[in-house]
Amino acid sequence: MTQAINPERLHQRLTYFSTIGADPAGGISRPFGSAADLKARQALRQEFEAASLTYRVDAAGNQWGILPGTDPQSKLIVAGSHLDTVPHGGAYDGIGGILISLEAIQTLMQSGYRNRHPLAVVAFTGEEPNPFGLSTLGSRLYTGRLKAQDLLQTVSSSGERLQDALRRVGGDLTHCQALDPTEVALYIEPHVEQSGRLDEADLPIGVVDCITGIYRDHITLIGEQNHAGTTPLGHRKDALEAFAEAALIVEELLQETWPEWMVGTIGQVSVYPNAINIVPSRVDFIVEWRSTDQSQLHRCAERYRDTINSRMHTRHVTLSATNVLDQAPQTLSVPLRQFLQQQVEQHQHTHLTLSSWAGHDATHMARVVPTGMLFIRSIGGKSHCPDEFSRSDDLALAASILCDSLKQLDQVVEEVISDAASL
Ligand SMILES: [Zn+2]
Repeated sequence: MTQAINPERLHQRLTYFSTIGADPAGGISRPFGSAADLKARQALRQEFEAASLTYRVDAAGNQWGILPGTDPQSKLIVAGSHLDTVPHGGAYDGIGGILISLEAIQTLMQSGYRNRHPLAVVAFTGEEPNPFGLSTLGSRLYTGRLKAQDLLQTVSSSGERLQDALRRVGGDLTHCQALDPTEVALYIEPHVEQSGRLDEADLPIGVVDCITGIYRDHITLIGEQNHAGTTPLGHRKDALEAFAEAALIVEELLQETWPEWMVGTIGQVSVYPNAINIVPSRVDFIVEWRSTDQSQLHRCAERYRDTINSRMHTRHVTLSATNVLDQAPQTLSVPLRQFLQQQVEQHQHTHLTLSSWAGHDATHMARVVPTGMLFIRSIGGKSHCPDEFSRSDDLALAASILCDSLKQLDQVVEEVISDAASL
């Protein structure tokens, strides 16, 4: 029987968290380690404790709210996401998944159901890019994808040590060897879709089968600094003009060669010396490619490097490229996906399975434990912007589906895990 979650409670919590880090310039700015991050963490702890969940923070600064089970030997069934945001971000990315998970577990507890497995809400540390250059920090430390000892000297763009920021939120790099993801039976991440496929299909909830791979190259174009007034056209080696051509090649390449689900972006550019009367000598930029097909990713990145290399040659501008991220696409647990598809069908009579074009903590959890994701419709497909919006009804439906799923998984999780292991 479907558990009746409390939509008003969920809505009120979301509204409250949307005030933490509200940026006068628009949207919400709550990066890892900021005052807003600390305030949100404190508020989340209070919510966990008010809901009678056992609170803990691990060495990666991940926050856990745990409803103990009747079987002390059994593994955790975990749902959650992250509570940091991008600059001027929206009110739903990350925090929506945490509060849906809290609502689901609190509803189950208040229904009088006695869970055998401990049920946990997790809020992973620093999922979004941050001044330390380490996105999905908490989930990568938790799953051993990042080695804590390699990060002891890491500092932010403003010179703060990562270890100091982590200690401020209750973590400690020197204790990360104690992190043990084998305590988790499975992980489910509810998250707003961040693109418009559910909205176009007029469906509130979808199930994710695969998370995109991401490939990033740092590219430097070297021209020659000279006087803006006295250098004639034929003598210029203008790195910014060269960059303009390199930027347009991203679109050219994708339109000519690659399928529509391959995307490419240049979102970060620095120009030197960046002065009004000097021909630019150098441009640094990051070009990023995303696809659920890793071989396509690699082919596209290589083709881009070759193409700009030949075009820069005619401009007498030299180029160097360094790969800074090569994250493989991640297929999520097939048995858990099938289970979630059934759960979604019971609530909305059909299901839509879709891949995620955004990276998530689930990418890293999926490498060590059976992992699934539920997507909630994003109106207009907008995300990482102040206009990001999901309807309260859709969020409440996700909480209901998750609540029913957790209750059933408490009975059948061992079967789902063994199915996952046999694939
Ligand atoms: Zn997110």
